Amino acid sequence: MKARRKEQKKKYCQTNKEHERIKHKHWRYRVMALQVYSNGYMNCSLCGEDNIDCLAIDHINGNGGKHRKKDIKAKNFALWLSSNNYPDGYRILCHNCNHKECLSTIE
Ligand SMILES: [Zn+2]
Repeated sequence: MKARRKEQKKKYCQTNKEHERIKHKHWRYRVMALQVYSNGYMNCSLCGEDNIDCLAIDHINGNGGKHRKKDIKAKNFALWLSSNNYPDGYRILCHNCNHKECLSTIE
């Protein structure tokens, strides 16, 4: 019984270690994308918010949802941007400004 529990714990640690590694990799790509699209300032292009947790990469012409549905790789958006050499058409917005922009297109 003890050996089985020890084996389960070992497996759990290995699984979470891989998860943490992947999470860290995604975070790194996200930070790089934020730097590229904000010219190194990592702040909202409308209001200047610089809390990295509040920032989002915005599709300037909208259609972010369609983009993610069309290209499955775009679900990991920051990695997709890196793989495509950071194409034009994106900017950094805070989530509030991103939401306001979204509402303005609906009205
Ligand atoms: Zn903002």
